[in-house]
Amino acid sequence: MRSLEERRQHMVDVQIARRGIRNPHILTAMATVPRERFVGPDMAEFAYEDAPLPIGEGQTISQPYMVAEMIDAAEVAPGDRVLEVGAGSGYAAAVLAQIADRVYAIERLKVLAEAAQERFEALGYPNIELRIGDGSKGWQDAAPFDAILVAAGGPEIPAALKEQLAIGGRLIIPVGEERGQTLIKITRLGESDYAEEDRGLVAFVPLIGEQGWAEDGARSASNHTPGHARGDSLSDMIAQAAIPLPPLDDPEFGRFFERWADRQVVLLGEASHGTAEFYRARAEITKQLIAKHGFTILAVEADWPDAATVDRYVRHRTGAKAKEPPFKRFPTWMWRNTEVDALIEWMRDHNKGVSEAKHRAGFYGLDMYNMSGSITAVLDYLEQVDPTAAKAARERYGCLTPWQKDPATYGRAVLTEGYRKCEAAVIEQCQALLRKQLDYAAEDDGESFLDAAQNARLIASAERYYRVMYYGGGESWNLRDTHMFETLEHLLEAKGPHAKAVVWAHNSHIGDARFTDMGISRDELNIGQLCRQRFGERAALIGFGTHVGTVAAASDWGEDMAVMRVLPSRADSYERLCHDAGISQFLLDLSETRQPALHRRLLEPRLERFIGVIYRPESELWSHYAEASLPRQFDAYVWFDETQAVTPLGPEHARAGAPDTYPFGV
Ligand code: SAM
Repeated sequence: MRSLEERRQHMVDVQIARRGIRNPHILTAMATVPRERFVGPDMAEFAYEDAPLPIGEGQTISQPYMVAEMIDAAEVAPGDRVLEVGAGSGYAAAVLAQIADRVYAIERLKVLAEAAQERFEALGYPNIELRIGDGSKGWQDAAPFDAILVAAGGPEIPAALKEQLAIGGRLIIPVGEERGQTLIKITRLGESDYAEEDRGLVAFVPLIGEQGWAEDGARSASNHTPGHARGDSLSDMIAQAAIPLPPLDDPEFGRFFERWADRQVVLLGEASHGTAEFYRARAEITKQLIAKHGFTILAVEADWPDAATVDRYVRHRTGAKAKEPPFKRFPTWMWRNTEVDALIEWMRDHNKGVSEAKHRAGFYGLDMYNMSGSITAVLDYLEQVDPTAAKAARERYGCLTPWQKDPATYGRAVLTEGYRKCEAAVIEQCQALLRKQLDYAAEDDGESFLDAAQNARLIASAERYYRVMYYGGGESWNLRDTHMFETLEHLLEAKGPHAKAVVWAHNSHIGDARFTDMGISRDELNIGQLCRQRFGERAALIGFGTHVGTVAAASDWGEDMAVMRVLPSRADSYERLCHDAGISQFLLDLSETRQPALHRRLLEPRLERFIGVIYRPESELWSHYAEASLPRQFDAYVWFDETQAVTPLGPEHARAGAPDTYPFGV
């Protein structure tokens, strides 16, 4: 476990410096101020996460990067007199006080202001003057200011704040509606001459006051830096390099992927969790690799116990049967769909002709044992004891991916107050569920790869895991993907030295994280990266993408599945480049040796779309796009210009004479 100083320095290196903030004053100040002292003791362990955190009164301490970004934009320098509106925990004021000569801070909520004052006294910040009040009117007696930073979003720029700027002074303020405010920088050039600069989209809690919003208390937010538009004629190069693919029902389809058949691990991604073409293409590739090239492991992004039930079916295994049918919990359509069902039937059929049990192709789950089960349990429980907390938790779990930069993240942090009250009970629920699932796993027929030590370790770390899962974005992601990778390794070991595996998981798990926003600015890793590091050239990472169509997804965690329209891809995305290539479905080999010129031209990061089990078209840019360098992320990319939603399995799909437990015969 790293010391607090080390974690603080790590935060500065990874979250601040790597995102391009170079000002040494800011870096030093943020490496000095103990952020853990500005949150409650129960939140201290998350103090260096890349996220806002609750501080009480429905408010939050800002994400560290946002604090740095605003100070950078305001060009705060030694000797300056600075006003901060919305002091909250006092953290940003403390960082400012490390740099500027004098800091004036205003907070409208008394409880927060008093707590911040105590911190300033305890930590020794004599150059901060704090007062309780409406900061939208500024602080006339202390004006003029060299810089004014507003940590809450207003409907327009308060005239009072502009007037209180010194000539040459800078005002930084988020302006606009709840979602999609713009961070504005105003520089006072002369008595009545101001320059205005747009610093990109952000989202903040509302500025409530005379020159802000009326009090309604309902707004919530986060921040976001949008991608930069770039235009060029790369699409022609893509068109030239693209290998057109035959229809999915053409028996030749899978053969196009035989160039990776000699790899030990072939990882197949998907750009959503509900697109039929991605499932069908992966099924065809997998069938080819199993039938012709000796692959015996299909390891998917699913819970172990559920996948084990399917495995028992496809490998004609005997032994204890599951108490309930698999994949009955949200998001059911991810595995209960006609596309997966067809593959399962094919595997069962294929295995019938394989006499030696160890050569039969198995179906395994890589995910944390009960990720979705535990989330459901938490939600059910909260629903009973605290519906507001349940709503917050549902939204929060909907964003358990590194790509979600939804403004609502901020709101979720705000609302964790409710969750915290019953956290102990929630964790107990999760642990009980975990124990039950592991007991069940241990009942397996001797083929179980989950040994007792692994179970014991999991239960011992469960409490931390659930806490991290709720509060800590990056850490929980790394925990999960490391677990998936270790499970894959475990499977390969158990199957012997020549074992070969196909992995199905979302592009965000498969594409090497080191070349995406998640790795670069959040220090997150994933199974694709770990496979490359472990297997080198023996692993192939293949991503999937689409331009437009429909997708099966939900608006929030636990909500009903809907078939939603996928918006046409953005003009500044990789997807648009592929769309403009004008070929309806193709395979693009991205390797440097096979396509050196294309590889080079595609290197510069651009936006890429990531749709999970949740799709929120209304905030698509924030919620679903992130920057990545496609040719470094993947060895190849599979393109379907227009795609359709998967078909979930319902009673209408039951075959005549099939048991109640259809599908999967369990
Ligand atoms: N900079 C803070 C920190 O580091 O903890 C975070 C501030 S939080 C995002 C925004 C704060 O603005 C809240 O504490 C809220 O109460 C406060 N606020 C909103 N409207 C205000 C106003 N008119 N005057 C002063 N404070 C205001």
